[in-house]
Amino acid sequence: MTRTHEQHPEPRIIPRAEHTISRAGISENALKVLYRLKSAGYEGYLVGGGVRDLLLGREPKDFDVATDATPEEVRTLFRNCRLIGRRFRLAHVHFGREIIEVATFRGAHQGEEGGGQAEDGMILRDNVYGSLEEDAWRRDFTINSLYYNIRDFSVVDFTGGMEDLQAGLLRVIGDAAQRYREDPVRMLRVVRFAAKLGFRIHAESEEPLFELGECLEAVPAARLFDEILKLFMSGHGVASFELLRHYDLFGHLFPLTEACLAEEEGGFPHTMVLRGLENTDARVQEGKPVTPAFLFAVLLWEPVHARARTLQAEGMNELQALQVAGEQVVVESNRHISLPKRFSLQSREIWTMQARLPRRNGKRAARLLASPRFRAAYDFLLLRAESGDEELQALAQWWTDYQAADEDARGGMSVKAPAEGGGKPRRRRRRRKPRPSGAE
Ligand code: ATP
Ligand code: MG
Repeated sequence: MTRTHEQHPEPRIIPRAEHTISRAGISENALKVLYRLKSAGYEGYLVGGGVRDLLLGREPKDFDVATDATPEEVRTLFRNCRLIGRRFRLAHVHFGREIIEVATFRGAHQGEEGGGQAEDGMILRDNVYGSLEEDAWRRDFTINSLYYNIRDFSVVDFTGGMEDLQAGLLRVIGDAAQRYREDPVRMLRVVRFAAKLGFRIHAESEEPLFELGECLEAVPAARLFDEILKLFMSGHGVASFELLRHYDLFGHLFPLTEACLAEEEGGFPHTMVLRGLENTDARVQEGKPVTPAFLFAVLLWEPVHARARTLQAEGMNELQALQVAGEQVVVESNRHISLPKRFSLQSREIWTMQARLPRRNGKRAARLLASPRFRAAYDFLLLRAESGDEELQALAQWWTDYQAADEDARGGMSVKAPAEGGGKPRRRRRRRKPRPSGAE
């Protein structure tokens, strides 16, 4: 049974001695903000991912603060403070590179002044201030609704978040379907936290996911872009991908890719996306940089490749075909997820370089190697080779050897490995079972 505001009015207070959050785990700047709010007579709580991650013994990504001070009042307390946001009016307190986000308690929004709801139930504005308790009930998941009180260092739990945290359970606060409709991004968030924390999704919070993917199409494309980066560039991309496909959400984000994935090729599933995400996860784990351009090159490659082959069959050369297909796919996918141009230009170069890499004779190889996009294009080629045919593998090996060779040896390297493009690829690919719900 999902608890609601009416049924469960009394919060559970977990005193300092009975939980594991210590001030040593909290950033000094977040503590400064909390203490200054307190000494000015306001309430100050750490909330959200910071509290959740500290209780799980993980290092928080950032620290969010909730208070009864209005954004304007917060601004008078901190010189280094900026007010941001229209949808959510927030105070950002800047300390060098660290930003502490300070949000005023927010209340219910039904038809009240400052709130607004579209016909399909989506919240348009959500800026009504409220009490701590109201703030707790409008958050997304119980484990994200725990408050660390700077006055007595206790944790305040209105929604049963502490129990769910201990049980490894993600549970939407209130009626899950309604909360997903209000803000469909919550569906991506539940998947992201399931992938990242290895938590199960409570049955009542899980069921509507299978039905509501369509709602994602109403989310502004720029917001989806931000969320996609969090899903795929935080080291849990494979788990996120598998869960998104399991709940039929992926196709509402990347319909062109989904159409390719649904169709096997020569009896084998397409594995490029999965390998690309495995590779990205490994890089994140090793602390290496990953770029949105490479990520989107991976996520959109199947439709680009399929389209380019069609164009080639109609008489275009491979390079032109990849240019045209790349542009079309970027334009179409931008309707769902807006990929900023500085990234999409790079993704397109990574794709067109795939037609250039086989042409290595004369001075071409040296010129390609010197190109600013070589590294990404070569990494991309390696990924394709892993799930591709022998020709592609030979080409990738050639480039690996070429880079390892010294100047003299490079000049003498044969370019006999046949160029890619002709013949039907013979693919040997591993089959994978789709992952059930809950991921590690
Ligand atoms: P992380 O920062 O590790 O990604 P987080 O839980 O802190 O995770 P934020 O996006 O920083 O995520 O949001 C901070 C808090 O704000 C959340 O924990 C949650 O309580 C609340 N919140 C964020 N997005 C929503 C939403 N779409 N609907 C309701 N509450 C939300
Ligand atoms: Mg956060």
